[in-house]
Formats: sequence, structure tokens, C-alpha cells
Amino acid sequence: MSNIIQLLPDHVANQIAAGEVVQRPASVVKELLENAIDAKANNIQLIVKDAGRTLIQVIDDGIGMSVTDARMCFERHATSKIKSAEDLFQLNTKGFRGEALASIAAIAHIELKTKQDDDDVGTAICIEGSKVISQEPTVVPTGTSIAVKNLFYNIPARRNFLKSNQVELRHITDEFNRVALAHPNICFTFHHNASELFHLPSANMRKRITGIFGAKTNEKLVPVNEETEILNITGFILKPEFAKKSRGEQFFFVNNRFIKSPYLHHAIVGAYEGLLKEKTHPSYFLFLQVDPKTIDINIHPTKTEIKFDNEHDLYALLKATVKHSLGMFNIAPVLDFERDNTLDTPYDYKEKTAIPPTISVDANFNPFNESASKPKSKKQHNYTPKATGSWESLYIDSSSEDKPFSIPSSYVEQDEVTSSMFTDEALEVKKQHTFQFQNKYIITTIKSGLIAIHQQRAHERILFEAYLKDITTHEGLSQQLLFPLTLDFSTHDIHILEEIKEQLYNTGFIFEKKKNSLIFSGLPSALKETEVQSVLEALIEAITLEIPQDAFSQNTLIAKLLAEKSAIKVGTRLDEAEQIAIVSKLFTCKENQLTPNDKKILTTIQVTDLDKALRL
Ligand code: ADP
Ligand code: MG
Repeated sequence: MSNIIQLLPDHVANQIAAGEVVQRPASVVKELLENAIDAKANNIQLIVKDAGRTLIQVIDDGIGMSVTDARMCFERHATSKIKSAEDLFQLNTKGFRGEALASIAAIAHIELKTKQDDDDVGTAICIEGSKVISQEPTVVPTGTSIAVKNLFYNIPARRNFLKSNQVELRHITDEFNRVALAHPNICFTFHHNASELFHLPSANMRKRITGIFGAKTNEKLVPVNEETEILNITGFILKPEFAKKSRGEQFFFVNNRFIKSPYLHHAIVGAYEGLLKEKTHPSYFLFLQVDPKTIDINIHPTKTEIKFDNEHDLYALLKATVKHSLGMFNIAPVLDFERDNTLDTPYDYKEKTAIPPTISVDANFNPFNESASKPKSKKQHNYTPKATGSWESLYIDSSSEDKPFSIPSSYVEQDEVTSSMFTDEALEVKKQHTFQFQNKYIITTIKSGLIAIHQQRAHERILFEAYLKDITTHEGLSQQLLFPLTLDFSTHDIHILEEIKEQLYNTGFIFEKKKNSLIFSGLPSALKETEVQSVLEALIEAITLEIPQDAFSQNTLIAKLLAEKSAIKVGTRLDEAEQIAIVSKLFTCKENQLTPNDKKILTTIQVTDLDKALRL
């Protein structure tokens, strides 16, 4: 029998290796940024086009490469970072496998320009799918520029597998943030298409964090500092009240390398015990320094998991350190056996929001007019700056002269009502009595029995349909704010909000960008000022992670979130007019049985059921 085993040609082997190293554009970004850091750069520029599909370029002012190295660096297992297997146990560099550039060169077009400080001229090399197309001397500053173009051009399946630009950009930003956080002393910039997403000058850790996540983060940070024999911990944790519903900003760095460790995450969550609201996750930026000999970073090709020799000790130390920081800054009660528990403020009491004051403004007031002292009750507008309960405005007769804000045309289009067993009976409600039960249900009657309507869910459905209509018909009216509201966001988040600006505008959001802030002069009716930040954060998160690709599903998402946040809550007392408004609005909805998240809104008790119960 003849022999059938052959060695794979290099370019095929490289393409296979690329499958592991390069999953998406963000992987290229990570490798190039890490190479620039290993090259001791002080300034690193990242330039990306079309979320990395067209171009990913990293320019650094590091040590550069010689002519020979410039050619060698694209060979597989070509590295300057380790020489023997022993070196693996005292790694001080990010890279060491020597396969990143070889892999990337197998699946893209690459232009490399590099020069060392001692050389007069540098080297320019073009490579396409592992083949060197050209090499020539060139005049460039000291350092290296690598441009990766048309990623996956020769692997259409991979290219088609890429997610939307928003999602890929989110992944790139995540990688960029991780690298930038680990190296606050290095200056980073990040451009996507024509816009500068980040400009991070060399700074300390606190400034770097606020540079990435917005100036508001500053007041949320609690420093962590602990030196022990086996471990040094530095960094910041976020105060528990800023814990997010979504897994947000959790950063662990071990010896300046970003890692994921569910085990150590658990230690931190444990330290926050009793301080977090249900289903929220604490944010943190923690830097662990350990002896390189005690870790093995070789277990995962993309290197975000590492193995520790003494994991249990680290767990205990980390938990104690975080607990200590929370205690030191008076966030958690420190251990004190003498303490009288009855002095504690009950948790749910602390949670209660203060009732915002209302301001009465006489629009016609003129201090020089003698009659000004007499209040002109008709013209007096009663503003409630925090817009508490402004949802009621949806139902107030809009012809009223005292109307404080512009109110959206209410969503009553009888001819659109298709579904529902209640359509003809709905009208009856107006003549009927309703009453509120346990500040949770509105009870009313129909011909055939009683209905119990869950007030919060019903209102969520009503608002959802109203918002959705506003977005799609571009008709949403805005409640104008007396005092503009300024909110800080990260550059990336602002970028996303600007992309959906039109949809937001249609729901009533009116905002302008100013540096890292958005200034809101108008909000959707019914949305409270205090909810704006959380609605928008939830929206950003959903858009970037849950991937609604088309405008249609984005509209639904926006309407859903707004409705969820602005609906009246269980526990709110409603007067009769409000109860009737909810009931009759609900019956004019296209769907009146389920909330946008498919939860049941109402239930009926038939007369026949009652009769049966009483054996009539
Ligand atoms: P690794 O980083 O694992 O060594 P790479 O394929 O990423 O492997 O890079 C191969 C080699 O190319 C590196 O070891 C380094 O010597 C050189 N190199 C890569 N990028 C740069 C850069 N930006 N500046 C200087 N040298 C670089
Ligand atoms: Mg590398």
C-alpha cells in the first residue's frame, strides 16, 4: 500500500491556525494592540473601518523591526518573546506563541511598515494570503504600522458569519477597553470610520477608567489596595448602588492581562453580600499581581482564562480585600459586635425615592405690575420638574387650558381595534364603576362577569403601543424640560445613541451631544427624568448585545423599554378617572391580553363561575 500522509503546506497550516486565533475582527485588534505594547510603545493608534471588515490598522511608536524581522514575523512560530519552554513560566509579554501575524496574514491583505530607531530607512511589506507581494525600503518614523485589510477575504464562510457592524464594533471596543485599562500610562486613540471614539492620554488608573466609561464614573469608584505575600491587589470597585442588571463592567487583570474567571468573580460577589439588589452584578476594575511562576496562561488559545496554582487562597484574599474596601469607605457595615441592629435603617426604606418638590410658576408675574401680587389662577402653571406621575397626562383631556406640557395625541383609533372579546363591552366601562384592589388590580364589570386588570401590565401595553406608533409614524411629542438634563455616557455609548437618534427623537427624546455628555431638552411623555439614564443604558446594552439587526426590531425594543420604565407601578393609588382611563385605553389596544413581554394582563370571573360556586 502506498503512503498517504503528507505535511500540510504552510499557508494551509496557517489558515487552519487562523481559525483558532482570529474569530472576528476584534481578535485582530487584540493581537495588534498587544504586539504594540510588547514593543514598548508610548502612543498607540487604532484605526478601524466598517467594524473591521475593510480595515484594522494599529500604529505604534515602539521599537520597530529590522528588515529581516519584518519578513520573519509572518512565519509560524516566529517570536522574539520566548526562546525556550522555561521562559513560559516567567512571561512578561502579552504574546509568546508567535502565531498571530502568521495567522492574520493567511486570511487578509496586510501592509506592514516598520523602522527601528538606529536605522535610517524602514521596511514596507505587502502580503496577501500568506504570499509576499512586495517588499521595499521606505521612509517612516520609528515604530510599526500594520494595516489589515479585507479580513477573511478568502474564507467567505467566516466573512458571512460576522454579525452586524454594531455588534462587531462592540467586540472591538471591548478589546480596546481591556488593553487600554491595563495600560493607563500608554496614550491610546481609537477612530472608527470618520469619528474619534476614544482619545485617552497617558494617565493614572482612575483617569483612565473615567476616560473610558465617562466622568460620572469617578464618584462611583471605591479604591482597593492590598499587598500580601502571594498577591497584590489594586484597582477600583463600584459602589453597590451602581450595580447593573446586566453583566456590565467587570474587569480582572492578572499581571496586566485581561482574564475571565467565574471563580474569582464569585469571590467578589460574595464580598458584596447583602448590599446588592436582586439580580444585579457589581462592577469592578481589579488588577492582581502574582508571581508569573504560579500561573499557567497556556491553557486557552485566546488566553482569557488562566490557571492559578493557589486558587483557593486567591479567592479568600480577594473576598476579604473587597469586603474591607467596602467597609473602609462606609459602604458596608464593618464588623462590630457591639452594634445594635435596631438602629439600622430598614433596607426597603432606604430604597424609597424622595417625593420631589413641585414648583409653582406664575408665567405672568411682573414685579412692576401692581396687580401682580394677586395670583391669576387660570394662567398659573404647576410644573413638576421630576415629572412624577406625568403618565396621567396621557389621559387628561387635552383641551384643558392648564395643560402644562405638550401631550401626545392619545392613541385612540377605534377602527384599528381588531382583537378582543371586549370590544363592544369596552364602551360600557365608561358607564360602569371600577375600583382598585390592593393598589394592584383594577376591578371592573362586563356583561358576563368581573375582570381583574393588573394595572402595571395594562399600562405597559398601552404605553408600548403608543410609543411604537410614535416611532413609526414620527409623531411622538416631547415633554419639554424646564431645566435641561445632562447625562454622561462613554464615547462608545454616545456613538450608539447617535445612530438611533432619529428613532429616539420620534419617541420624544430631544438631545444634543456635548463632549462626553448628552444634554436633553425634551423627553418622551410619561418618562420620568430619573429613569432616563437607566432606559438608555438598557437600550444600549440590548442593541449591542441582543443584536436587533433591523430598524423594525429596534423600534420594538425602544418602545418596549420605554413602556416598561414609564408604566405606573404596582402600589400606586389610582383615582377613579385614572382607573377608567386605563381600562378604556386597554380595550383600544391591538392586543389587550398580554404585555409586550407576553405576560398576562387580565383575568375574568364569569357570572356562571360565581353561580356554580354558590350552587345556584
Ligand atoms: P508573538 O507576539 O506571540 O511573538 P506575533 O505573531 O504576534 O507573535 O508577532 C511575531 C513577532 O513580530 C513578535 O515576537 C515581535 O518580535 C514582532 N512584532 C510584531 N508586532 C510588532 C510591533 N508592533 N513592533 C515590533 N515588533 C513586532
Ligand atoms: Mg503577538
